[in-house]
Amino acid sequence: MTDTRYLVHGVFWDGPPVPAPAADAGGPVLRLQSADGDFREFSLGPGTRLGFQVVEPGRFCLGHVQVQSASSRRHILCGSAAPAVRGKQCERCFVLDESRLMHDFHRGGRVTPGLREYLMQEHWLYVATFAGGTTKVGTASGPRKWNRLAEQGAAVARYVARAQDGRVVRILEDLVTAGVGLTQQVRSTAKTEALLQPLPADEMDAVNARAAGDVRALLAATAVDGFQAVEERWLRPAHAEALYGSGPRHAYPHPLDQGRHGFHVAALSGANVLARLDGTDAEFVVNLSQLAARTIVLGEYASEVPAVQEPLF
Ligand SMILES: [Zn+2]
Repeated sequence: MTDTRYLVHGVFWDGPPVPAPAADAGGPVLRLQSADGDFREFSLGPGTRLGFQVVEPGRFCLGHVQVQSASSRRHILCGSAAPAVRGKQCERCFVLDESRLMHDFHRGGRVTPGLREYLMQEHWLYVATFAGGTTKVGTASGPRKWNRLAEQGAAVARYVARAQDGRVVRILEDLVTAGVGLTQQVRSTAKTEALLQPLPADEMDAVNARAAGDVRALLAATAVDGFQAVEERWLRPAHAEALYGSGPRHAYPHPLDQGRHGFHVAALSGANVLARLDGTDAEFVVNLSQLAARTIVLGEYASEVPAVQEPLF
C-alpha cells in the first residue's frame, strides 16, 4: 500500500485487437500520472480489484497532446498543474492541444507537420451502437481502428468505409450526419445509463445493421473520391460480455468526485465497469470516466454497499 498521489488520465484500451470473437483483447488500463510526471498503467483486466480514495476536490489539467507522426503522440504535462476549466484541461493546454485541430482539417484548418502525417494516413468510418440502441457515426485512424471502438464502449459496430486519409473520412462523416441523421457524439453518462438495461443482443445488432446499410446506400451515391465502401464487423472484447447480458445490475450510488471506493472488475466496456462489491451479490455499473482529471491514491478500500431492491421480474 502506498500513498502516492495520482492524477487520473482515464481508461485506455491500447492493446492488440481480438483475433476471434471468443478471445479477449485490448489490455485495458487506468492511466495514472504521479506528481513527478511519471505514468503508471493500472490493469483493469478481468477480476482485478480497484481500490482508491479521491484526495482532492475538483479536477486538474491533464496537459496537452502533440501529434508527432502517423502513430506517435507526445503528452506534454501541464506546466502549472492548474485546475481544469475546459473539461479536463486548463485554458492554456486546451488552446495548445493538437488533437483538437484534426477536427477542422477537412474544413481548411491549419495543421502542424506531425499532425499532417497523422491525418494523411488511412482512416476508417464506422457505425457504432451503444447499449440502449443509440447509434453514432465515427472515424478511427488505421493503427487505432479496433482500439477506438473499444475505448468508446460500443456494443456493436461495423466499419462502412476505408478512406485514403483523415480529410476524406471526416468529409464522409459529416455527409452521413447530414444525410442519415446519425450523431457524432454520445455522452458518457448516456452510455452508462443504457448499460443498466441493455437491449437484447439481436435487437442491438439489427439497429446497427440497419444504420450501416443506410450509410452504405448514401455512400454509394456520393461524388466524394478517395474511399472504398467496406462491410466488416468490429469484434467486441470478451471482457465486456457480462455488461451486455441480462443479469441484474444497479446504478453505482456513490459519486466519484470524493470518498473511498473499492470493487472487483467483473466486466469492462469502454470506461464502464460492472463492479462486484464486497458483501453483496448485487452488481453495479461504475463510470470511470467520471474519475478523469481527479487526484486519487490507490489502496485497499471498499465501497460502501447501498441498500438495493432487486427487481421483481
Ligand atoms: Zn494545463
